[in-house]
Amino acid sequence: MQLYKTQRLKVYNSLTSTKELFEPINEGHVGMYVCGPTVYSNVHLGNCRTFMSFDMIFRYLRHLGYKVRYVRNITDAGHLEDDSDEGEDKISKKARLEQIEPMEVVQRYTVDFHNILQKFNFLPPSIEPTATGHIIEQIEIIKEILDKGYAYEINGSVYFDVNKFNEDYEYGKLSGRKLEDMISNTRELAAQDDKKNSQDFALWKKAEPQHIMRWPSPWGDGFPGWHLECTAMSTKYLGENFDIHGGGMDLKFPHHECEIAQAEASNGQSPVKYWLHANMLTLNGKKMAKSTGNNILPDEIFTGNNNILSKAFSPSVVRFFMMQAHYTSILDLSNEALLASEKGYQRLMEAIAGLDGLKTSATSDFDVKELRQKCYDAMNDDFNTPILIANLFEAVRHINLIKEGKEQLSEEDKNILVETMGGFVFDVLGLETKNDAGKDSETLSGVVELLIQLRNEARANKDFATSDKIRDQLAALGIQLKDSKEGTTFSVS
Ligand SMILES: [Zn+2]
Repeated sequence: MQLYKTQRLKVYNSLTSTKELFEPINEGHVGMYVCGPTVYSNVHLGNCRTFMSFDMIFRYLRHLGYKVRYVRNITDAGHLEDDSDEGEDKISKKARLEQIEPMEVVQRYTVDFHNILQKFNFLPPSIEPTATGHIIEQIEIIKEILDKGYAYEINGSVYFDVNKFNEDYEYGKLSGRKLEDMISNTRELAAQDDKKNSQDFALWKKAEPQHIMRWPSPWGDGFPGWHLECTAMSTKYLGENFDIHGGGMDLKFPHHECEIAQAEASNGQSPVKYWLHANMLTLNGKKMAKSTGNNILPDEIFTGNNNILSKAFSPSVVRFFMMQAHYTSILDLSNEALLASEKGYQRLMEAIAGLDGLKTSATSDFDVKELRQKCYDAMNDDFNTPILIANLFEAVRHINLIKEGKEQLSEEDKNILVETMGGFVFDVLGLETKNDAGKDSETLSGVVELLIQLRNEARANKDFATSDKIRDQLAALGIQLKDSKEGTTFSVS
């Protein structure tokens, strides 16, 4: 019998703002869509946390015995710099600045995204569709919305008519916003586009002559609006009604609100049963932003190559750190927090490594089945990984007592304990025993730091031949030194 029949999962549904019993539309099957990255730059750590939350959710649903079709898209067109349909396409802009093809930008950052996710031990989604691969489907949806009267065409662009839609449906039900408030809060700006109302959003944008990413359509050459791709791809692969739609909190409005509106306008029904939103990651108590420098890339953590860190941390330690917070809570990353997580992670791994060798006795001194159920209870309560981890450490405490001969464990209970620890730690939390990536990079940073020190000594002694030799030979190995007032740092290319 599948576990999901006895382990009843509850999820927090953003649409109803309540925790609900999870009952998929088709018993035993789950359709899940998660908004993927816009591939115009290296994936940042905050995005990794969002995708990791859904990787954990995907893993737990599979663990419960569900057959899950997990669709996570790649946004490779249509995402403008500004949520109000203004500005350049993010990918086109990068291509223009670097004087390369948009698809080169897409390829480079899709590969980077996959590399980072692989280091974090993500499971690949079942389907990873791209926006540019689904232009025809997007055009078809626009035609349907136009036919139903919820969109209008102006000068080669098509806009969604939010007012018209709101007469028959409810715009704002996911984010809890009222259209009247949205209207009264909007200043009348000088018309920068042809929209009838500022709340309306683009389904199709006319491509200006200089716009490089463009496709033919019944309304002329253009490109699809960002919100539309998710409606097109989720409908194509999961149907008009599916179980879970996930994404970061910041996507709730306008992106997800617009997805609901597009689906309801085209086929008359609400597309998603459970909306799940993952919260953000802050750095040293502040929002991460490239512009303020309060920012860190995943690879900088794995190499320790960032001023806020005292050392490198392995992807498994970072993963463990992220799993110690509930996915709907804000999580703050700092050097101290990572150091603490590393200790906890090592304690957990040491206990697991010693599990097989545990001596068994005729009886057990603690209730292993009860402990296992507590782990399930935690996960069944909207994927509460911090409580799960607390229970796993309760198991670690017992494992250590048994090792010291202070508690006893029966053979049968030992088997349950091995299965429980393995199931939750490796299958559900997605942790790995290997810590090599962190260790290798730790060794590398140690060696480079030593060479930097020798170079500084050479420079202090005015031995520039030696200091230049160190710099040049490191550069030949792909390690760049960078001198600044604060000292010398390095990067690996
Ligand atoms: Zn989306």
